[in-house]
Amino acid sequence: MYNLESSLQSIYRKMIELIYPPQPRCVFCGDNFQPYYGLAFCQRCLARIPLLTKPVCCSCSRPLRGKETDPCSQCRTERRYYEQGMAVAVYDGFMRELLHVAKYNFRPDLARGIGTLLAAWAEHEKRLEDIQVIVPVPLHPQKILARGYNQSELMAESLAAVLRRPLLSEVLSWVKPVRSQSKLRRKERKENVKGAFGVIDCLAVAGKKVLLVDDICTTGYTLSEAARALLLAGATGVKAITAAIGVIEDNWKI
Ligand SMILES: [Zn+2]
Ligand SMILES: [Zn+2]
Repeated sequence: MYNLESSLQSIYRKMIELIYPPQPRCVFCGDNFQPYYGLAFCQRCLARIPLLTKPVCCSCSRPLRGKETDPCSQCRTERRYYEQGMAVAVYDGFMRELLHVAKYNFRPDLARGIGTLLAAWAEHEKRLEDIQVIVPVPLHPQKILARGYNQSELMAESLAAVLRRPLLSEVLSWVKPVRSQSKLRRKERKENVKGAFGVIDCLAVAGKKVLLVDDICTTGYTLSEAARALLLAGATGVKAITAAIGVIEDNWKI
């Protein structure tokens, strides 16, 4: 039955919202906040994120106790297929918590929120000026089924919008059965991802500079294998950006 009173109330509410738009809420703690550089987090949550500070490895951006121009212990001994690794925060403390919640608590909104950190960081980054297309690191199809979304793809959305480059989510794919990287030792991780990726649409990346996007860089093996597949498909170069990067203990002994 038509209810005039509730219809009038609804119109009144909409008019109030037009005059006083509802304040956005922080994607993590839910508090009202004043939007800041398009970021989805309030100032209090932002202050808890362990942002990456110099010195970092010149090649992969890992925190370093040397000089900014030094490569880290891993970059000195192992070959990488991506030419430059970049990251916004250290994989530790609150950032570790954010990424865990975004991945395992069915929070696609939080994954998108973390993407706003990547976008704000990348907006004026000179090393990204030559990038032509953006490719998120894909999830294994079984994981997509279980999780319902690829957090790296959602994180790449704001980044692609800010950089005004196409986001190619269907180009790269897992082509071999693998175990979860997080439960493996370092050497096993390398074997586990070897040949793991294939490019479905070579034309989309051939002759282009590609930016790979992932949530976390721990050993860097996953990024490197994904980069190798893109280079094999004809990409002219691959750079990588992650929301967070892990510290390697060896780097602190330099
Ligand atoms: Zn907050
Ligand atoms: Zn390095």
